[in-house]
Amino acid sequence: MYMGVGSLDVNDLTTVLPGDLRPVIDLDEIARIMGANGRRLRGSILHEVTRSITHVKKMMAPQCEAVIVPVENCKRGLVVLAQGAELASRKLAKALRDAQYAVCFIVTLGEEVDAAIKKHTLAGNVFSGYIMDAIGSAAAENLAEQFHMETVKRLNGIGKGGTHRFSPGYCDWPITEQGTLFSVLGEKHAGVSLHNSSLMIPRKSVSAVFGIIEDVSSGIDPFERYNPCRNCGKKDCVSRR
Ligand code: SF4
Repeated sequence: MYMGVGSLDVNDLTTVLPGDLRPVIDLDEIARIMGANGRRLRGSILHEVTRSITHVKKMMAPQCEAVIVPVENCKRGLVVLAQGAELASRKLAKALRDAQYAVCFIVTLGEEVDAAIKKHTLAGNVFSGYIMDAIGSAAAENLAEQFHMETVKRLNGIGKGGTHRFSPGYCDWPITEQGTLFSVLGEKHAGVSLHNSSLMIPRKSVSAVFGIIEDVSSGIDPFERYNPCRNCGKKDCVSRR
């Protein structure tokens, strides 16, 4: 069952994109993905990255789709959604334990970015392909972040809250759970398909889940209520919040 929450419904969520949000491409994030280890991009590499950003931007066709599903319960490391789908992650279950709904969503940059990366790589321009790949990853992640934060802002505007978001393959949520998330998304998969290796096609896509908390009268920000990173020993995690 997919439904609205207060004055916010799934149609509101899906109309956020593609018209309103465009990926913001951050040079430091690209440097991080390229393994610059805290150093900033400079010289000829910065020039090449900047040139590629302009090129990749022209090929982006951002799309987003989302569904809102009631959360039945969160026990023993499982989030059980209405209609019986189970998401197996202890940290996600903890994050959603006070949530009444889960927002399951997917964003993508579309097929052209993938095709351009492949074309450059196959033509022997491996470094160009590598740079475009890093730009695509940063852009897809930024799109997911914008959708998440924009939705949380809208939830806050109607007196509700949103939790941190989680994606299959990150934190303690296995990539093999991608199939379950796609089954929850149903027809709302933004044109993204799932390869049997759990990879998404187009590759520059992000699927994720976060919770909606209806009662935030305690005044505690749901982000603060549970942040798994606070007590996590994985110091080198690139997804640390
Ligand atoms: S640092 Fe945060 S995102 Fe990374 S593994 Fe730990 S809890 Fe998960």
